[in-house]
Amino acid sequence: MNDGNDKLRLELAAATRILARANLVGMFGHVSVLTEDPDTYLVCPGAGARKDRCRSTDVLALSLDAEFEPGRPLELYMHSEVHRLKPHLKSLIHVHSPALVALAAMAEVPSDLLMLHASFWPERMPIWDEVGLVRDRDAAQRLIGILGDEAIALLRWHGAVIVGETLQEAVFRALLAEEHASQVVTALSHGRPLAPVPAGIDRKSLYADVLSPRTHTMHWEYAKTFVEVPGDARGRS
Ligand SMILES: [Zn+2]
Repeated sequence: MNDGNDKLRLELAAATRILARANLVGMFGHVSVLTEDPDTYLVCPGAGARKDRCRSTDVLALSLDAEFEPGRPLELYMHSEVHRLKPHLKSLIHVHSPALVALAAMAEVPSDLLMLHASFWPERMPIWDEVGLVRDRDAAQRLIGILGDEAIALLRWHGAVIVGETLQEAVFRALLAEEHASQVVTALSHGRPLAPVPAGIDRKSLYADVLSPRTHTMHWEYAKTFVEVPGDARGRS
């Protein structure tokens, strides 16, 4: 499709495959990226599609006002509304991955930081606690309000949303968020005293130091090599 988004379609398809390879998206879960036109975003296909085989031709281009239709992600409004309300965030990823779902069911979600590479982890985790999916625009706007300025929010009994100022950042954060959640769940299970990153450490500074934009690009180029598909270019610039 010649709409000026060819390169971004390749990148969104590669992002979908990277997330699928890590079991972050599959039957459920989806990823979007805002285009240079602030009324249009790209999103991977919905629940019936094999995310691990996603190609650039499978990527959907939707306006912010587009409604759900079969073939689109059921909860697509979380994407349209983050792109409408927070256009500086270019990408949102929704996952139903096991460790984040486990954390999302805890009455009190620990704020301990156990990995330097997860320093985007909120000091107080935003939690969506409505019993149900995010199936309309109003619900999505409430979710984005709860997210605030954080990189991640949990959805009780359901999963998480992770955002980034670039697609590459969001993908890297999503992988690291599930890894960190897994570490937190493990730590709670073994019950031994923890040595988390000290409370006085500024996480934003730590994030800038440990996970600079250069590392996002490095990770992106590295991760893409594992998910190349015949007939789809690698999305290099
Ligand atoms: Zn969901």
